Amino acid sequence: MRTVGIIGGGIIGATAAFYLTKQPDLQVTLFDSGRGQATKAASGIISPWLSKRRNKRWYSLAQSGAEFYEQLVHDADLDKSVYEQTGTIVTRKDAQAVDELYDLAKSRAKTTSAIGEVRKVSAAEITDLMPIVSCDESGIYVSGGAKINGEGLVEKLLFHAKNNGLKLVNEQVSLVNENTVRTKSDQFVFSNLVLSPGAFLKQLLEPLNYHVDIRPQKGQLVDMRISNQVTDEMPVMMPESENDIIPFKDGIVTIGATHENDEGFDLTPTNTEINNLLNSGTKFVTELKSAERLGVRIGTRGYTSDFAPFFGELTANMYVAGGLGSSGLTTGPIIGKLISDWISSQTPPADLDLLTKPVSNYIYSK
Ligand SMILES: Cc1cc2nc3c(=O)[nH]c(=O)nc-3n(C[C@H](O)[C@H](O)[C@H](O)COP(=O)(O)OP(=O)(O)OC[C@H]3O[C@@H](n4cnc5c(N)ncnc54)[C@H](O)[C@@H]3O)c2cc1C
Repeated sequence: MRTVGIIGGGIIGATAAFYLTKQPDLQVTLFDSGRGQATKAASGIISPWLSKRRNKRWYSLAQSGAEFYEQLVHDADLDKSVYEQTGTIVTRKDAQAVDELYDLAKSRAKTTSAIGEVRKVSAAEITDLMPIVSCDESGIYVSGGAKINGEGLVEKLLFHAKNNGLKLVNEQVSLVNENTVRTKSDQFVFSNLVLSPGAFLKQLLEPLNYHVDIRPQKGQLVDMRISNQVTDEMPVMMPESENDIIPFKDGIVTIGATHENDEGFDLTPTNTEINNLLNSGTKFVTELKSAERLGVRIGTRGYTSDFAPFFGELTANMYVAGGLGSSGLTTGPIIGKLISDWISSQTPPADLDLLTKPVSNYIYSK
């Protein structure tokens, strides 16, 4: 029987484990320390269509990732507490910028139905859609935008995978060579390895003498609860030059997130950044002033120097993914699925070159 070891149980590793354990001829082990996991700290916005990023591969991957959620919701039986399409509003201060964004959304709607309805919204219409918000900006609404609970998604995927025989080891591990993993007390040899350790890829590959183009970025966000408001069905709001406002159920409103490039792998909450998040959110949702603070979530994003995610084969039988940056909830599941299919069929995805640059652009022997 072929054996697969996965290092890293965030959104990529959990999706890969979910699909790989459906294959009866594979025995799958997932190693995850949980330290600094970006997936469980993430804001949860799935809405790549209004991004002005010019990287065509990134957009193809992100669009495929947003489309793939429909299949994942079905395959993993995800309910609304994990994934819900309630739309996204992106605002601009300037009317011409709204027109440009509208044109972009309309042109992207020609290549994907996942974006849903696209329309311009006035400040009053934004308040109709989000009664907790008052603003004087207008923007674009797309009905296909979704909210995802990253932690809930990983839990659900691993629940199914364990039922299908996944062995889960909650431990920090290291690589002995290209097919051997060392835990505190043991060593495991695998037919295939999947490296999906998020921002920690450089550290993981260090013992094998690889140069890895990944740097960490700290992200903090704050979860608040507003009383007497039904927030479940409200869209996400992404105001220009401010933090995003993500309403979840039971009055929970998340404000995020920071992008801190000089903090390494630090996971300490900092008052200045949290107050900045709250001040930003309060400009649109005044009730946040008196809302209950439920907590702060902090994770580490991994970025490549060209800000692009990548995935593929590093050596024969060793697969790697990284650099998902600030859109990994969108691109992570499709990457996990494609790696799973690649291992199962032993054939790379037909459109690989349209989705990622070669791994050798980001990782090479020293
Ligand atoms: C604050 C914040 C907000 C975000 N908001 C959004 C958003 O709204 N939309 C969006 O699309 N994306 C968002 N992102 C980005 C997204 O969360 C990440 O890109 C994505 O979750 C990365 O997934 P991953 O599986 O690559 O890594 P991770 O989720 O970081 O998982 C990697 C796992 O590997 C484990 N690991 C690492 N090394 C080892 C080792 N040696 N042994 C064992 N385990 C190891 C880690 O502990 C971790 O659990 C956000 C990120 C942050 C931090």
